Amino acid sequence: MNINYQSYLKNYPDEKGFFGEFGGAYIPDELKAAFKEIDDAYNTICKSSKFINELRRIRKEFQGRPTPVYHCERLSQSIGNAQIYMKREDLNHSGAHKLNHCMGEGLLAKYMGKKKLIAETGAGQHGVALATAAAFFGLECEIHMGEVDIKKQAPNVARMKVLGAKVIPVTFGLKTLKEAVDSAFMAYMKEYKDAIYCIGSVVGPHPFPKMVRDFQTVVGFEAREQFQEMTGELPDALVACVGGGSNSAGLFMPFLADDVEIYGVEPMGKGHKIGEHAASITYGEPGVMHGFNSIMLKDDKGEPAPVYSNASGLDYPSVGPEHAFLHKAGRIKYKYVTDEEAIDAFFKLSRLEGIIPALESSHAVAYAMKLAKEKKTGSILVNLSGRGDKDLEYVIEKHGDKFL
Ligand SMILES: *Cc1c(COP(=O)(O)O)cnc(C)c1O
Repeated sequence: MNINYQSYLKNYPDEKGFFGEFGGAYIPDELKAAFKEIDDAYNTICKSSKFINELRRIRKEFQGRPTPVYHCERLSQSIGNAQIYMKREDLNHSGAHKLNHCMGEGLLAKYMGKKKLIAETGAGQHGVALATAAAFFGLECEIHMGEVDIKKQAPNVARMKVLGAKVIPVTFGLKTLKEAVDSAFMAYMKEYKDAIYCIGSVVGPHPFPKMVRDFQTVVGFEAREQFQEMTGELPDALVACVGGGSNSAGLFMPFLADDVEIYGVEPMGKGHKIGEHAASITYGEPGVMHGFNSIMLKDDKGEPAPVYSNASGLDYPSVGPEHAFLHKAGRIKYKYVTDEEAIDAFFKLSRLEGIIPALESSHAVAYAMKLAKEKKTGSILVNLSGRGDKDLEYVIEKHGDKFL
């Protein structure tokens, strides 16, 4: 494949939302006009200097951007001579990178004159970030969530409600994320004149993979400048965890044209059999799901397979179409990390650096530690996508006896 990475962000995806064969918008006819409206609005409003300046101000004054790049000297020393750095997205307001695109989507909704934000959530992280954005912009917020997930994720349900969002329990099927997506889509279909649908990662039908990526690239553009200021050069390698693929896309895309190795890290959970992991690129096949064409994990009937990871933000049976594309192009390498390796990294970073990472981010830290051991020299920049407070209860219950 002959890809010009210098002009990549302008040229990919194409107008129909395709990155090569991946992407697109596989949606019911009733929704085509609604998605076109969002795409048109994105292409005009978000390129205006008024929008850009307002988003810049929000990022600085409300989100606390730029987030720092931090040199983990003690963690690096404990391994060898390769130097590990972290882009501290855990210090973003509300504790993770997700607010980067939720504030962008919220601001776009306001400019479009919409009154309500609609979304689904699995573990609740996207729901909390979107409820935060809705409160900031004075918009209504409706979050669809499987009844099973509502029981499991009580603290995030409480956060959404405190922030003023309406949490709609989804009571059909398996009552988890997949049904929540269907329910949110149905609600959006009824209300698309007044509402906008907000996706939580670089997944779903066009224009979401492009829009969410563009809002997240603030991470990589900041990090590139900060790293050069600190060291006088670019990092030798980038590492980020891949669930749907938004925090990784945000860090990676501004470095595509550079001589930098790029590694996306998938969750291998507790084993390599279907149902034990969520390593969509490592073990997936081409297919269409949730309105877009990508690589996905299928069961023996060809349906989306059950997935598992101790990091609930990573357990998605597919991946953003741009990742499928850049995997095929060979520009990004995809590796995996098990639950156990992630837990080890969770404690290493906490104890050597005083930073408690989210279990999702711990997957990236774990792979960076492996890479540092292999490389022996050079520098590695990790996207620390979120903080670990949300995971403390689980970690203590499951691993407290071993580590505490
Ligand atoms: C949701 C989440 C992820 C995974 O989502 P991506 O779209 O792959 O970035 C990773 N880290 C944290 C902290 C999350 O909340």
